[in-house]
Amino acid sequence: MAVERTLSIIKPDAVARNQIGAICARLEKAGLRIVAAKMLHLDQQQAEGFYAVHRDRPFFRDLVKFMTSGPVLVQVLEGESAIARNREIMGATDPKKASPGTIRADFATNVEENAVHGSDAPETAKKEIAYFFRDDELCARTR
Ligand code: UDP
Repeated sequence: MAVERTLSIIKPDAVARNQIGAICARLEKAGLRIVAAKMLHLDQQQAEGFYAVHRDRPFFRDLVKFMTSGPVLVQVLEGESAIARNREIMGATDPKKASPGTIRADFATNVEENAVHGSDAPETAKKEIAYFFRDDELCARTR
């Protein structure tokens, strides 16, 4: 196993419901360390750029509208197999299909308003982290 970094977003639905702390507690309990965090209200261009791979999907317009509807908490998480570990505790995209005890099973509303984002592979993690953070904004957690 290798120590990895992954990008996490607590989406506008969960931020609006004041669930930042509860979700961060799940991340930390899973052994993921927060090495960078910022709260942002994404504009249309930022949201479209972030989800550019989905631009031809039927849900793209609505997704961008949702992601710009309120502030989000963007974080970089670090840990052993952080990418897969985060995806595991997030649960399936559609909360109806998410395993019990996962973040989406417990906090998501529907397949669109699903509380969290997590990078799905090493290349996407690298790209997504660089989309929001400069290298000098990532804090080493050596203590
Ligand atoms: N999404 C949606 N409708 C769908 C599938 C996805 O609105 O039918 C949204 C949802 O917010 C999801 C995001 O688009 O988290 C990105 O989709 P992806 O398939 O990459 O899912 P994820 O990696 O977030 O589980």
